[in-house]
Amino acid sequence: MEASIMDGPKRRYGAVSGLTTVKNPVSLARLVMEKSPHSYLAFSGAEEFARQQGVELMENEYFITQDNVGMLKLAKEANAILFDYRIPTTGLECCAAEADNPLMMNGLPINVYAPETVGCVVVDKEGRCAAATSTGGLMNKMSGRIGDSPIIGSGTYACKLCAVSCTGEGEAILRGTLARDVAAVMEYKGLGLQEAVNFVIKERLDDGGKAGLIAVSNKGEVAYGFNTNGMFRGCAAEDGFMEVGIWE
Ligand code: ASP
Repeated sequence: MEASIMDGPKRRYGAVSGLTTVKNPVSLARLVMEKSPHSYLAFSGAEEFARQQGVELMENEYFITQDNVGMLKLAKEANAILFDYRIPTTGLECCAAEADNPLMMNGLPINVYAPETVGCVVVDKEGRCAAATSTGGLMNKMSGRIGDSPIIGSGTYACKLCAVSCTGEGEAILRGTLARDVAAVMEYKGLGLQEAVNFVIKERLDDGGKAGLIAVSNKGEVAYGFNTNGMFRGCAAEDGFMEVGIWE
């Protein structure tokens, strides 16, 4: 598991990678930001810091679900790396297999959605933005693989203008520095939040890379974008407004 968190106005961040026992990786990322002299800890060092900080640790079994064991088996058999499988639908392409030979689950093709990653972006009444992202990464990833989620500027970014959290194919998000680019086009091209998100999804995802992101601005705007068929998302405002969505 890996995670990161960033405080926009102060441009502080904390990140962790290579965790196997920490129940809430994003809380450890925050402790790295607030309680360590560093910004990013990984593997055994991150686990040691977790023990020192007294965060909740879990046995391996806690993280292993029958669903995921089944998916891992499928992915291994197909020799595929997956970032998505939660909503099977028919007739849509699969990221991990040839379109005419998609991976199947419960008799349906496995489609393209970010499953295990949780991102959160917030803005307070003073216009202060913050972002966080936490993930188990990709199904059947190589041992030692680090994705975009703990990388500031790629999976997570916050500054005075906005906060952004990404999901999808980490390698593509890293190549496109998606989260930072949303802020950069707002800053350098003067685009509004949703325009910036649209620009980044359209222009910065190359080579068939599939991803999505959520964003807020210091003005309290909310935006999202993705080039997958859907992305689980929700929004809540102080006045009680709430909204959830999956499709466009
Ligand atoms: N972006 C994550 C990764 O590549 C996966 C995901 O969002 O589902 O590790």
